[in-house]
Amino acid sequence: MKIPLFSKKPEMAEDPVCHMQVDMSNPSGGTAEHEGKTYYFCGPGCRVAFKKEPAAYLSGEKSVEM
Ligand SMILES: [Zn+2]
Repeated sequence: MKIPLFSKKPEMAEDPVCHMQVDMSNPSGGTAEHEGKTYYFCGPGCRVAFKKEPAAYLSGEKSVEM
């Protein structure tokens, strides 16, 4: 008999701009799609920065220190 899990961990995703962990069910910075993938952001500033130059952040060429 399986015991159901009561404390379900929230699913986390990494903000591609500042590399913070963001709750996927409630990203405070919203989401953005890039090449069919959804990215999650800690704040609107990161989302705006990512949308300007998504490739630069994904390749690690650019990053933001928080
Ligand atoms: Zn961020």
